[in-house]
Amino acid sequence: MSVVVGCRWPHRFAPDFAPRPRRCAGWRLWEKLVRGDRRWQVDRMIFSENELQQHYRLLLGVASPWQVKKVKLELDEKRVEIELAWTEGAQAQCPACGQDCTLYDYAPERTWRHLDTMQFETILRARVPRVDCATDGVKTVAVPWAEPGGRFTRLFERFAIDVLLSARRVQAAAGLLGLSWDEVDHILRRAVARGLSRRELAALTHLGIEEKSFRSGQSYISLLTDLKGRRVLDVVEGRTQAAAEALWDTLSAEQRGAIEAVAVDMWEPFMNASQTKAPQAELVHDQFHVAAHLNEAVYQVRRAEHQELMAAGDETLKGSRQLWLYNPMNFSEEQAASFAALKDSGLKVARAWAAKELFTKLWTYRYEGAARRFFKQWFGWVSRSRLKPLIQVARMLKSHLENILTYLRHPITNAVTEGLNSKIQMIKSNARGFRSFENYRIRILFFCGKLDLYPL
Ligand SMILES: [Zn+2]
Repeated sequence: MSVVVGCRWPHRFAPDFAPRPRRCAGWRLWEKLVRGDRRWQVDRMIFSENELQQHYRLLLGVASPWQVKKVKLELDEKRVEIELAWTEGAQAQCPACGQDCTLYDYAPERTWRHLDTMQFETILRARVPRVDCATDGVKTVAVPWAEPGGRFTRLFERFAIDVLLSARRVQAAAGLLGLSWDEVDHILRRAVARGLSRRELAALTHLGIEEKSFRSGQSYISLLTDLKGRRVLDVVEGRTQAAAEALWDTLSAEQRGAIEAVAVDMWEPFMNASQTKAPQAELVHDQFHVAAHLNEAVYQVRRAEHQELMAAGDETLKGSRQLWLYNPMNFSEEQAASFAALKDSGLKVARAWAAKELFTKLWTYRYEGAARRFFKQWFGWVSRSRLKPLIQVARMLKSHLENILTYLRHPITNAVTEGLNSKIQMIKSNARGFRSFENYRIRILFFCGKLDLYPL
């Protein structure tokens, strides 16, 4: 059923002498419709030239030469469509140079999703005029309610960005907003593009480059992070030297020249890329990566020793795998008691563990000479330990010692971005819908780039 009500509608149900309602009649109609007043129940209503238009003009902040031409309610679909029209003969400006131009024609009708009004999905419709500019040619004029090329009004985009930022899952936000995957993607992409174009990179001094697994661990991505600003600067596919160089190339030569130090793993492609693109920047091997290598050695020693013991029927090391990897500070009383006995047992794994623990002292030195002497002692002790996996790691650390000692001058580590890591992990685990690496990149920059995402 369709009802078209003209400008006389406020008078149809009221005697002539009745005082005019004080509030906008549009609101009163709304209230009746939303409360479901039986007498007002209709499937669809079209209003023209009435106060509902006035109401929407004020609500949307539509100013001359734009005007609200028609308001159409679709009650069944809980939807309201507002048609906006350009006043005939009004002067229009070129969106490129701003000068007054003659009207060329009207672009085909477009729609923009706006914030819901009274829980009704709200759509704006308009044919936007095109001008014929002497300098720039034929251009579509800018509309006040949306950014160029946007499918949503500025207010809607702003609101959607807030919902996306506070939702734990992009899909959940899409559900709340009533948006499809493509629509959310459109908002994310535009927000990131805006943020990147406004981003300030002048003060960069300490960066981190690290790899992450992408998809089910089969492929990798590399991340460039601003360690002081705690933000992701960019993401590329792969973990090759070319990938890392592409990351460096997202900065200008001047910005690269201002970098003092870079936290990287002992991974040649990343080291080479940094030396090529920012030769003045000191490399700092991340202490958590160093710890991971030492942990791996302890793990190997334990596994071999456990097998040996079990073959002889000795279950001493059974169930102790985690104990050797975790910080004893976090142990329960029971764990602490069993670990105390193990670590003084004289077992090989106990010696490997002690070597790993001892190494952390290196990070506490203030002077390079003292740190160097400490490393020499540590290395000598490990060399005599006859623990093969540990000796291998010690040799690797020795060959990278110069870039380990830089930590004393630049105490940086990629662990600063630990908070970002958990966000990235969340993005990855919600990544069922990813069609490409680019979608992944956009989400990382949206959630971890600290960008100014909002439309103006
Ligand atoms: Zn122009």
